[in-house]
Amino acid sequence: MRWCGRNGGFGMPLVALGRSACKVETIVYGKLRMTEEKSLHKDAYTLILDAIDEGLYRPGARMVESELAERFGVSRTPIREALQRLETQRLLIREGRSLIVASLDHNQLAELYAVRAELEGLAARLAAQHAAAEEVRVLRKMVEEDSRLIGDPAALARANRRFHKQIHLASHNRYLVRQLDLVHRTMALLATTSLAVEGRSQTAIGEHEAIVRAIEARDGDAADAALRAHISRAFETRLRLVSAAAEGLA
Ligand SMILES: [Zn+2]
Repeated sequence: MRWCGRNGGFGMPLVALGRSACKVETIVYGKLRMTEEKSLHKDAYTLILDAIDEGLYRPGARMVESELAERFGVSRTPIREALQRLETQRLLIREGRSLIVASLDHNQLAELYAVRAELEGLAARLAAQHAAAEEVRVLRKMVEEDSRLIGDPAALARANRRFHKQIHLASHNRYLVRQLDLVHRTMALLATTSLAVEGRSQTAIGEHEAIVRAIEARDGDAADAALRAHISRAFETRLRLVSAAAEGLA
């Protein structure tokens, strides 16, 4: 995992997004505005992972080396290495001679959300204890910005990832950040965002607000509880999405 550098002058905090992307956020007249997304030489692995995350390749999709090389304008050797790495991480699986995007069954989904709730809760608790005042203010701005994105699930999903990433970083525990990164990498296999479910965006924003309030109050117990409750709601929504999708197929 690469990290974005801290601060580019002019009061512009660089917020790490994980993998190799950074967002530069500018505070203009007290408002936080996304100005620019810098792709810092994304490698083949990150390009493929991002494409899975954005739903370009859904579970079951075949990953063909030559097609990927052409799509991303990368030679075949790094693509092959990236595919091997993704297979080792079980994000891709073999089906005959092909590599396909893995999917998560019900048990894996439950296991993933259980781990996520524990780790994210811990991150919020630690953030309440260790976050710098500036980091807390960035979280507050993020929540304020969220409400403007209602009606755009894809933008909200990206904002949601940034919000959670910011809490992970504010925990100031690199081992925890690494574990959370692993969990979020697997989340890429879910492709559809639960924020697209009717009414979920508004409640999710309210939940983010409760998390930030607890962190601002430096209340570790409340931050932990608020984040766990948020993940539990997200899991509930995810289960509804899965059952709706299964119904659609039947
Ligand atoms: Zn969230």
